[in-house]
Amino acid sequence: MHNFPSIISVWYKKNQRDLPWRMTTDPYKIWVSEIILQQTRVNQGINYYIRFIESFPDIKSLAQAKEDDVLKHWQGLGYYSRARNMHVTARHIWNNLNGIFPDNYSDILALKGVGPYTAAIVASIAFGQSCPAVDGNVFRLLARYFGIRESLATGKGKKEFLRVATEIMPAKHPGIHNQAMMEFGALQCTPKSPNCLACPLSLSCYAFNHQSVESFPVKFPKVKQRTRYFYYYFIKSKNRTWLEKRTGNDIWKNLFQFPLLESTTELTDSYLTSFKPHFLEDCPVNLKSISPTIKHVLSHQIILARLIHLETETSCQPGSHYIPIETHSIQLFAIPRLIEKLIEKARIPELNSIYKV
Ligand code: SF4
Repeated sequence: MHNFPSIISVWYKKNQRDLPWRMTTDPYKIWVSEIILQQTRVNQGINYYIRFIESFPDIKSLAQAKEDDVLKHWQGLGYYSRARNMHVTARHIWNNLNGIFPDNYSDILALKGVGPYTAAIVASIAFGQSCPAVDGNVFRLLARYFGIRESLATGKGKKEFLRVATEIMPAKHPGIHNQAMMEFGALQCTPKSPNCLACPLSLSCYAFNHQSVESFPVKFPKVKQRTRYFYYYFIKSKNRTWLEKRTGNDIWKNLFQFPLLESTTELTDSYLTSFKPHFLEDCPVNLKSISPTIKHVLSHQIILARLIHLETETSCQPGSHYIPIETHSIQLFAIPRLIEKLIEKARIPELNSIYKV
């Protein structure tokens, strides 16, 4: 291997793209670019990045921005929770950390919305810490070059890729090395038909020398996912609604949710229109709307969910298991991301004003 890092480094000097976030070692700007790139491809991300940094050039300006303004800059990227998390994190840094971005991997990782990969990128580029960053491009490159047959989806696989990535990390300029690895994977060791004959690593590349480039990274059969159908009920009774707490050994234990009807099959609109769930049996109800279906994918299950908006009389009480709350206080309860997505989609004014869609 073992001039691997220097070969990558020489290649990077010649071939790196001229990207705006490469011109800086400012942790704030690197963090912003990484969060944007989680949402979109590099070409599209450039414009978002430039506009974002023009409006919010530093922690202070982002911390003091209005959330609506931040979300506007995010428009079109999707997953608005990422933008909200960035805003919350900027405020946290500004208010609690004297406006100074944390300067080491573990403190960066502790920030809301920051995962191991982003923490490694920021720590290595901005603070010169030797933290390997394994994104999809680096994973493919390592799998092929070293002939690693593990899956990145398993704990064992993650450890192995991280071990190898750490082993080849040079003592000097870890940030440049991380970027070079990602760029090499993105431009040279491409997912389909990489040009191995023109590759400076081909002499020592395992996959190339075993004529098995197409077999790496190894594809693992996906775990069979079970499909579940969730019908949540937002029951409005003046300013009140109800939540329930999830218990048992299921997903989202101890989180709160609207009263749920779970079905093993999909229920049609006409069925939902005339059907009254058990927790409302004794209550007169008025159906206001049924949201479109939201697909929520977890590792072993797919959830297809809808939010049904009903109105009922003030005397109604769906049962002691359900917790009556003032509708506006819903934001005080920890709810699954799926319900936030449903609220965004359902466009129920009482809820959207709380979640500011
Ligand atoms: S020789 Fe081919 S498979 Fe190996 S690192 Fe280079 S581009 Fe990737």
